[in-house]
Amino acid sequence: MTLSTRCLNCRKRFDVERREEVATCPHCGSKWRISWVDADQPKVQGPA
Ligand SMILES: [Zn+2]
Repeated sequence: MTLSTRCLNCRKRFDVERREEVATCPHCGSKWRISWVDADQPKVQGPA
């Protein structure tokens, strides 16, 4: 299952695999550390 969060660089939403800790925005190529507010809510934490 994929969930989406917002890229802090280009402000577009992108999909993150559940419990994934690092994800790359497909729109601008930025790599992010992901934190999980809860099981269904990924949040960009900062640059990976
Ligand atoms: Zn982006």
